[in-house]
Amino acid sequence: MISPRETIVCVDCGGTAHLITAPREDGDWFAGDVVTYRCSDCRDRWDLELTVDDDDSPED
Ligand SMILES: [Zn+2]
Repeated sequence: MISPRETIVCVDCGGTAHLITAPREDGDWFAGDVVTYRCSDCRDRWDLELTVDDDDSPED
C-alpha cells in the first residue's frame, strides 16, 4: 500500500516540509494522488504526485 511521507526536505531552503493533505476517509492512497507539503521554514508549498516508488524506501 502506498502512503506519502510525513515530511520531505524543502528543495528551496533545505528545511522540513510537512504533509498537509488529509487522506481519504478510508485512509487509502493511490499512485497519481497529488499531496501537498508546506515548508515550515520558508512557507513554500510543494505539490507531489505519489508514485509506487515512493513507498520502497528502506528507511520507512
Ligand atoms: Zn523551505
